[in-house]
Amino acid sequence: MHRYDLISCHDCGVLYRKRPLRPREKARCIRCRSVLYRGAHARGASAELTKVVALTLGAAFVFLIAQFFPIVELDVNGLTSSATLLGSIRVLWYEQMHIVATMVFLFTILFPAIELGSLLYVALGLRCGVKVPGFNRVLRAVQTAREWGMTEVLMIGILITVVKMTSLATVLPQPGLFAFGALTLMLAIVVSFDPKALWNLGDDLTRQALPGIRYKAFAPDEKVLPCHACGLVAPPLGKGRHLACVRCGTALHVRKPDSINRTWALLIAAMILYIPANLLPVMVTQSLFGAQDDTIMSGVVLFWTSGSKGLAIIIFIASVVVPMLKLGVLALLAFTAQRRSRWRPRQRTILYRMVEFIGRWSMLDIFVVTLTVALVRFKSLAVITAGPGALAFGAVVVLTMLAAMQFDPRLIWDPVDDKAAEDEKRSSAANTGNNTVIGEQHG
Ligand SMILES: [Zn+2]
Ligand SMILES: [Zn+2]
Repeated sequence: MHRYDLISCHDCGVLYRKRPLRPREKARCIRCRSVLYRGAHARGASAELTKVVALTLGAAFVFLIAQFFPIVELDVNGLTSSATLLGSIRVLWYEQMHIVATMVFLFTILFPAIELGSLLYVALGLRCGVKVPGFNRVLRAVQTAREWGMTEVLMIGILITVVKMTSLATVLPQPGLFAFGALTLMLAIVVSFDPKALWNLGDDLTRQALPGIRYKAFAPDEKVLPCHACGLVAPPLGKGRHLACVRCGTALHVRKPDSINRTWALLIAAMILYIPANLLPVMVTQSLFGAQDDTIMSGVVLFWTSGSKGLAIIIFIASVVVPMLKLGVLALLAFTAQRRSRWRPRQRTILYRMVEFIGRWSMLDIFVVTLTVALVRFKSLAVITAGPGALAFGAVVVLTMLAAMQFDPRLIWDPVDDKAAEDEKRSSAANTGNNTVIGEQHG
């Protein structure tokens, strides 16, 4: 067996032997239906690499425009106010909402910047035929940054804010708005490229440079572990609890350590914070007509009664339905995995995938609050500030995302595998028993 041969299903742990696919073809796990890998580009790896470099470079350029130009400008009877993303975060920071400001900064500026910068560095290097210094660490950073970058959520948040503002003032779109739109589209294409492919390309390069194979072939009965970072399935380095991937050096575990306990801990913290997140105001409006506190739910009601029913539904789904679903589904997954239940494993895997996918979308309301707070600063007319509910709400989103990441979906399938192995052992034992009986009769 050899290094590229095997692939392990991320969601249920089944091992497969890879075969080449046609372009745009997908290989799915027969047990849980998750996508294992996709067919290579028709024009080959180097054309694919050129595309990635070009797109990432373009996205990085658009990213800078999006950061430094204002997104929208408001005009109320000659009074104007405009906001850049960074400016909005600064406003939050000076309002003593340090944690929320930091969260918004990380999810909308720092992580997307790390993703683009690191990907560009590694892909550009490979394009020039060099495996850049720090290759493994930088490529791992791309993957982590990708999990936490939320540009597409921010884009929807910007659009909601714009629509919301049209009822208060004249809204003039600024270059930042279009730049964010373009960035969202470009990132969607960049994200469709799996960084694991870059590890394989890096391997090819080193093999050309150093004749002699880096990863020796291994015997079929040797114990292998899949690496969740680079995708290699091979016998790991090290012994006991300290195992590492031969290729990229990531620490490996048979199952994520303490997965269920950690999931529960994060989940319970999220459930407790979910209460203040809904009861405390996320926004406080001070206007000529006095002060008004808005919780998430009252914000939804306000949209509904003011005629923006579509927006009311979007915010209701993102901020109320999604967090509740996430808490419920994660509790169900942790509970059934703890009881080693064999109940509907495939459906539970689908639920897990869903929670992983929708997790980030609950940040929507936080982004809307951030931009609104920065835009509505008309001292004589109205000033909107962020309330403590925003902090609790942001914490719920981050905690549930962490809980989903701590949960190891392969735990859903372990009891199923164990039962199958037990049945097989029992039936083979029964068969040997029969044989002896037959033998005795003949004798
Ligand atoms: Zn699977
Ligand atoms: Zn690895």
